[in-house]
Amino acid sequence: MGVTSTFDIEVDSLKEILNKGYDAVFVGTGAPRGKGLNLPGLEDAMANVYLGIDWLASVAFEHTESIGKRVLVLGGGNTAMDCCRTSRRMGGEDVRVVVRSPFEDMKASPWEKEDAMHEGIPIYNNHVPIEFVIEDGVLKGMNFEKVEAEYDENGKRSLIPTGEDLVFMAADDVLMAIGQENAFPWIERDLGIEFDKWDMPVIDEATFQSTNEKVFFGGDAAFGPENIITAVAHGHQAAISIDLFCRGEAVIQRPPPGVNLASQKMGMHEWSYDNAVQTDQRYVVPLAPLDKSLRDRKLEVELGFDQDTGYKEAERCLNCDVQTVFDEVRCIECDACIDICPTDCISFIANGKEDELRTRLVAPASNLAQELYVSKELPTTRVMVKDENVCLHCGLCAERCPTAAWDMQKFLYNVSKAGQSV
Ligand SMILES: Cc1cc2nc3c(=O)[nH]c(=O)nc-3n(C[C@H](O)[C@H](O)[C@H](O)COP(=O)(O)OP(=O)(O)OC[C@H]3O[C@@H](n4cnc5c(N)ncnc54)[C@H](O)[C@@H]3O)c2cc1C
Ligand code: SF4
Ligand code: SF4
Repeated sequence: MGVTSTFDIEVDSLKEILNKGYDAVFVGTGAPRGKGLNLPGLEDAMANVYLGIDWLASVAFEHTESIGKRVLVLGGGNTAMDCCRTSRRMGGEDVRVVVRSPFEDMKASPWEKEDAMHEGIPIYNNHVPIEFVIEDGVLKGMNFEKVEAEYDENGKRSLIPTGEDLVFMAADDVLMAIGQENAFPWIERDLGIEFDKWDMPVIDEATFQSTNEKVFFGGDAAFGPENIITAVAHGHQAAISIDLFCRGEAVIQRPPPGVNLASQKMGMHEWSYDNAVQTDQRYVVPLAPLDKSLRDRKLEVELGFDQDTGYKEAERCLNCDVQTVFDEVRCIECDACIDICPTDCISFIANGKEDELRTRLVAPASNLAQELYVSKELPTTRVMVKDENVCLHCGLCAERCPTAAWDMQKFLYNVSKAGQSV
């Protein structure tokens, strides 16, 4: 493609880059700065207190080979989970995660928390770090204040101290994993790039363009730490903008994504996808034995499914890509689909306001986040209402319908790409 790549160079001035005359610049420098906690005693404890993200990098680059036996990991996100599990593999025996929030509010994915606890790492929730405890100039541990979470009517959380005595936890080392923030010391502030009150660049959410029309941002650098999928999606969108910009076109006029619906009907009662309804629970992914995985930091912990379990797990798929498409012109209002639907998600009733309609369905639709599928008015003045929230995509309605008013159609979505015409 004629792309020139350059590695192992730290960019320390965006001005210099812009002065080289590039037509557009994309900034994807991530969120490289770990946040710290400046608590009493930190100065004396400094030799044994690390920013989690920096410590993980130093382990990955093999600059760090061990950690103390007693380790406190502060924070409740996935970085904290990586820190505690890595500590267990680097010599930590009594490794604890201590988090301010309730267990359920922790940012870490549920399976990451499960895996950490499986490795013998307790999670102490509702504990706010107060101070480092130092004796004779040496870190002995930390004191925490116990709190309880209270939520107001808008769901806003406050952590209220319980009034109990401070809780002391002994530690040889402390890892702080309380979040990351962006750092742009290398972006001069006179380049026409506006920064907000949190010192984040002001970026258009659709185009990823900054207030300097030549400079685009994406990934964690754009709106703060997210995840890999989001960073890739940002990259696609920024590429579209850069392509339009370089061609002198308006970046806001974006090519639409490709969408398609195709019937999955193959013959009498047969679909091109597996529509059997499975009631099996999620299969547990087998893990490597603990004694082996804790001895080897690089050992893959999740072993994956064997072939048979893999097939069974795949059969649990709800085929959410296959949509139930209703054609009111064909419907003779025989109500047969209502009878056959195993989850009672189809109703033929008089139309009404959404709140009230939800209560009159064959099975009341309680998930307000899921919109109802409401047809146009039918000859008897009723409408067909479907609650997508409970649909199993089994296709029984389409099999039963005598007029093919229901059809199961596969939905394909192709994300727009740079270079595509608008
Ligand atoms: C410990 C940890 C665990 C995570 N686990 C997951 C996970 O399991 N799943 C998931 O989806 N996400 C995870 N994330 C988040 C994910 O890593 C990020 O959201 C994602 O990597 C962001 O991609 P990016 O391209 O924006 O930035 P990055 O992947 O951070 O890449 C930025 C690049 O820019 C380089 N750079 C920075 N400044 C400069 C400069 N001045 N000059 C030159 N180069 C520079 C950096 O060296 C880096 O290579 C995790 C994050 C952390 C910290
Ligand atoms: S696909 Fe199955 S669950 Fe969904 S509406 Fe039709 S019969 Fe009901
Ligand atoms: S089975 Fe078909 S024709 Fe009968 S009510 Fe349902 S959609 Fe209409």
